[in-house]
Amino acid sequence: MGRFHRHPDGTVHSHEHDHDHDHEHDHRDVGDHSGYTETGTDRVVVLEKILGENDRIADSNRADLSGHGITTVNLMSSPGAGKTTLLARTIPALEGRARIGILEGDIATSLDADALTGLGAAVSLVNTDAGFGGECHLDAIMVRAGLARLPLDELDLLIIENVGNLVCPAEFDVGQDARAMVYAITEGEEKPLKYPVMFRTAEVVVVNKMDLLPHLDFDMGLFRENLARINPNATVIELSARTGEGLEPWVEWLAGVAGIGDSGSVAGEPGQ
Ligand code: MG
Repeated sequence: MGRFHRHPDGTVHSHEHDHDHDHEHDHRDVGDHSGYTETGTDRVVVLEKILGENDRIADSNRADLSGHGITTVNLMSSPGAGKTTLLARTIPALEGRARIGILEGDIATSLDADALTGLGAAVSLVNTDAGFGGECHLDAIMVRAGLARLPLDELDLLIIENVGNLVCPAEFDVGQDARAMVYAITEGEEKPLKYPVMFRTAEVVVVNKMDLLPHLDFDMGLFRENLARINPNATVIELSARTGEGLEPWVEWLAGVAGIGDSGSVAGEPGQ
């Protein structure tokens, strides 16, 4: 969203270049934004309208999905953290318990949608470079377009795999019931502090690539400490999507939000 951003309380603003920098740059060169000072107020008004429209459509998405009895999870992460690999493990693990839809968001290509096809879930691909300006996130309008290609009457759980990006996806309500995040230990311990919005909005943080732990200097205690400073209520699940080790708590978390928490229940029947 560039210089405009929205706070958790819903307020939107732009500000002068007064945020903390961890680098030096020359404000007189291509990084010079001083010309925006005169149009700043107008830009905020325009952005508030855009976000207001997004939130209105997100509410419609939420109402339509819940009207179909579908629980929706917005799955977010950096590129390469392992969302698609995790979903390829998750779909078979929930077989017989929930009928799953995947709304696959990518800037370009059907690579991930193809990877998740044939595993038992209905898959709908939204490429943001196909009419949506190549955006770095899904918004409610894009999700609405993707929903039109899913058999909503036949689903219990919709997982939206958002575009891989640690910033933008967290700023848009798409109509989800819960937000989940995948975080790879290859990303280091400090990212919750540097990119707090997504970590703050996630109910669950899946800490992925645990199979690589012996080969990294990653300090799990420090990461959990950093995460707790930003979001003390987040559920943390350590696993390896590659090997499948540690998958069960994630599957049970999904089952819990979908209201099928009892492992003996079958899709279409009420849980115990
Ligand atoms: Mg992916």
